Amino acid sequence: MKALITGGAGFIGSHLAERLLELNYEVFVIDNLWTGNLTNLEKIQDNKRMHLVIDTILNESVMCELISKADHIFHLAAAVGVRKIMDHPVETLDINVKGTEAVLRLANRLKKKVLIASTSEVYGRHMEHSLSEDDNRVMGSVKKRRWAYACSKTLDEFLALAYFEEKKLPVVIARLFNTVGPRQTGEYGMVLPNFVQSALLGKPITVFGDGTQSRSFIHVKDVVEAMARLMVEPKAEGDIFNVGNHHEITIKDLAFKVKEMTGSNSEIDHIPYEKAYGPGFEDMERRCPDTEKIENLIGFQPAYHLEAMIQSVIDYFKE
Ligand code: UDP
Repeated sequence: MKALITGGAGFIGSHLAERLLELNYEVFVIDNLWTGNLTNLEKIQDNKRMHLVIDTILNESVMCELISKADHIFHLAAAVGVRKIMDHPVETLDINVKGTEAVLRLANRLKKKVLIASTSEVYGRHMEHSLSEDDNRVMGSVKKRRWAYACSKTLDEFLALAYFEEKKLPVVIARLFNTVGPRQTGEYGMVLPNFVQSALLGKPITVFGDGTQSRSFIHVKDVVEAMARLMVEPKAEGDIFNVGNHHEITIKDLAFKVKEMTGSNSEIDHIPYEKAYGPGFEDMERRCPDTEKIENLIGFQPAYHLEAMIQSVIDYFKE
């Protein structure tokens, strides 16, 4: 089997490339290195079944050639991280909308199966319960830039389902919840690498807002396992699956846990959202997945618990 991973030099994409090589795939990666990084591929760069193309997914002739070679397309290339999205709204919309449109159109021309990596952001500002795939979405105002990302990924999902229903293109949508693990950089705002780096350097751990907002984290190795298995499950076609872990923690408690596990003397500081992301920023107070659907279909359950996830990030930064 041959797989194409768009965004394969990124944090999640590079772990997926490793897993697919283990599963005996021949792997083609396309990445424009906007947020991806060649060092992420160091472990596998000499593997004979691994091929890297540095280019944008908007280059249609390159994409056409790559898609024609692949049996399975894992579409991960997208704008990533709240900071990037707040700082580069045009590029975010451009790559998320046009990029996915191009991938689906070309895949449809050649009738190749596609897995779209989507995001739990599409649920928006739900509070009450664990989020299941058919829930309504609760979006903020169009004036609030953060929601552009959620809406662009929602549009990607609509388009993928439209291709499935109207053109019979086999597609699967994986909605990833907060994914953590080695190689994730704190540069684009993600909380765990930022907390761990600050703790290890003895710098203040900065919690945005009052820290009562909560998240459910999942390890990147669990995420790529779920994606690889969803791709080969025929019953997953034309459907959406949460890929997450329902263990929930507040950001304040996460800061304490990181401080404790690193044995750090860092202070835990609170800073207002406006200071972190500019005026009018809206955060999700809670985001926890209902994971019954993926569990029932492919028996998927995450292997990593929270301490093991945090430890893997600590070990990575210590290295
Ligand atoms: N956060 C924080 N300090 C940081 C980075 C993030 O308190 O240095 C908070 C952020 O406001 C959010 C949570 O941690 O409430 C998760 O943030 P992240 O950007 O990792 O993911 P997302 O907001 O997309 O869930």
